[in-house]
Amino acid sequence: MAKRLKNYIGGEWVESSATTYTPVINPATCEVLGECPESTRADVDAAVKAAEEAFLEWRSTPILNRAQYMYRMKTILEERFEDLAEMVVKENGKTRDEARGEVRRGIESVDFAASVPVIMRNDGLEDIAAGIDETTLRQPVGVFAAITPFNFPAMVPLWFFPTAITCGNTFILKPSPQTPISMDLMFEILEDLDLPPGVVNLVHGGKDAAMAVMEHPGVKGVSFVGSSPVARIVYETCTRHGKRVQAQGGAKNYIAVLPDADMTASVKNIMGAAYGCAGQRCLAAAVVVGVGDAYDRLRDELVKQASNLRVGYGLSETSQMGTVVSAAAKERIERMINEGEQQGAKVVLDGRHSVVQGYEGGNFVGPTIVEGVEPENILAREEVFGPVLSMMKADDFDEAIEIINGSKYGNAASIFTNNGRFAREFKYRVNAGNIGVNIGVAAPSASFPFGGQKESFFGDLHGQGIDSINFYTERKIVIERWI
Ligand code: NAD
Repeated sequence: MAKRLKNYIGGEWVESSATTYTPVINPATCEVLGECPESTRADVDAAVKAAEEAFLEWRSTPILNRAQYMYRMKTILEERFEDLAEMVVKENGKTRDEARGEVRRGIESVDFAASVPVIMRNDGLEDIAAGIDETTLRQPVGVFAAITPFNFPAMVPLWFFPTAITCGNTFILKPSPQTPISMDLMFEILEDLDLPPGVVNLVHGGKDAAMAVMEHPGVKGVSFVGSSPVARIVYETCTRHGKRVQAQGGAKNYIAVLPDADMTASVKNIMGAAYGCAGQRCLAAAVVVGVGDAYDRLRDELVKQASNLRVGYGLSETSQMGTVVSAAAKERIERMINEGEQQGAKVVLDGRHSVVQGYEGGNFVGPTIVEGVEPENILAREEVFGPVLSMMKADDFDEAIEIINGSKYGNAASIFTNNGRFAREFKYRVNAGNIGVNIGVAAPSASFPFGGQKESFFGDLHGQGIDSINFYTERKIVIERWI
């Protein structure tokens, strides 16, 4: 029977006061895996109270002890690595290797959190005036929360709460109602850590629970990852309520391929960028711009390699691409391809109406390539969030930069070339927060902030790296004279 998920508040599993539940469906087999409560304001309030009550004792727990929890957390996550990866496959639809990659990246964020005692240290100066010393203290702020998306149900939450709590804050996590079970499992695993009750709390739900978190006066700051329209709402709501906020939004990532690039190797890399996680990555390659006479060779190689991708159930080791997350997502993606076609683009590899034997009800969309995409076409402008690669032509490098910078998004952009001058110009001139040079998925590792510009990010301090330490702490300047 499908599991009815509970919230985890104050160190206990508690029934939500929800009156409605959303089914969590395996997008390949259509099996109902669980029921996610639409938690209410009362549930959020209980979580905030538990987190507030835990805060004072937790912030005065020696920081080295707080960091010790991270070492132990890493160990238990390694022990349950395969269980977590399998759960991600079941509720999200990606392949087992992609899920393993996600859990691995998540654990790297736990490694980063273990280094917080080193990074949180601060500076000071003796004798800024005769006998007067000045130092900076960095202190935790209170209760933080994260609102996270469906596409990396295990990794994205780990970008935030390990660092936040090691800094001395307490935390509330609200995962996506489409993929909440990975965090249900994560919190079950975390019970072995014996963190003091209330340090981490899990509240399931959708928009209403998210709004309750953002409007609650007890929550000091919110980390958000999701689509741009919601990121904007989150940014505006949190700032209106006087909170810190970092809101990572959607994307439309461009890749420029220059004529001097090694075409076979570049396309191999672009395959992973466009079709990894069935294109449901905020760093997915969405548009590839062939520069000059690179275009024809690029298209032919892309179609050749993409046609060979094996689409199937993520738990089967032979699958190279899984499903998209839901029937609604499949319907949206196919509708956008239709619209792009109506607006003059040509579908040269068609993944619509894809069916996989044995999983006939599954939400599969095959690898799709569309060419002749003009800048005003929906496939050049809007995030599809599926395995759809649009192709554009640029006469020269400058035109490619112009096309890329014309996007309202600025999450990532990549260039494939052997020419150092063009690579440098690309880094210098492209308005995107994560730049790849001969790398299709420009994903920052855990000790670097996750870039993102324009409609792909709202706020100033990004997630991960030193930005996350600044986001989760308050600086206080102490000026002392003892003589
Ligand atoms: P989403 O915006 O629909 O949902 C994200 C979270 O916000 C969920 O927890 C959801 O319950 C909540 N939510 C939804 N509507 C809300 C509302 N009106 N008010 C308050 N909360 C609301 O995103 P999704 O479909 O789950 O995830 C896919 C999106 O996330 C894509 O656009 C993708 O590009 C983006 N993404 C961005 C990054 C990044 O680092 N920039 C990383 C991963 C995913």
